[in-house]
Amino acid sequence: MTKKEKATLFDEYLKKLYGNVECGLDSGGDPFRLLVMAILSAQCTDVRVNIVSKTLFEKLPDAKAMAESKEGELEELIRSVGLYNSKAKNLRACAKRICDTYDGKVPKEMEDLLTLGGVGRKVANLVRGDIYGLGGIVADTHCIRITHRLGLTTKPDPLTTERELDKLIPKSEQSDFCHRIVMFGRDICTARSPKCDKCEMQSVCKYK
Ligand code: SF4
Repeated sequence: MTKKEKATLFDEYLKKLYGNVECGLDSGGDPFRLLVMAILSAQCTDVRVNIVSKTLFEKLPDAKAMAESKEGELEELIRSVGLYNSKAKNLRACAKRICDTYDGKVPKEMEDLLTLGGVGRKVANLVRGDIYGLGGIVADTHCIRITHRLGLTTKPDPLTTERELDKLIPKSEQSDFCHRIVMFGRDICTARSPKCDKCEMQSVCKYK
């Protein structure tokens, strides 16, 4: 079986398991809000980020408000997500650049997104895929671990995972594929003890 065939088989299996999926971050389809929430989600659960974001966006609804927020205000609003000092610093810089350079709108191009504070390829791909429909592999810990176990990637690192999966999964499928793989990583192919006996990929999985 080629890697492409295995990736297609896995994609179909994930669809069968999880059907239609949505991003765990409840941004309401707003690019700036998804960007902020993705930055906040580093080492924090989606549930916590959704709770914190509700109040945050009531007080600071857009890039302009966030860029102009008083010193300490943003920190206080996001305190419970952890690493709040560095996240606040990144968010303020990100919001300011969006206002100053991109006329208040979140850019679409990868090279532009990567100039924003706190935005790496994972966050950029999430926004490009979920908001702008441009596809993008969100190489998070689940995606990296599982696709390497399956033998779809040659190295378990973010950039290799993104580049190699980009050739195996059609652009139009990439966002949903990444959302489903997170669910699969929590339910079945967990980090410590994957439930291989329950997994329909076991006959073609390198790890198994
Ligand atoms: S067979 Fe095991 S290691 Fe391979 S994808 Fe399934 S659960 Fe993960």
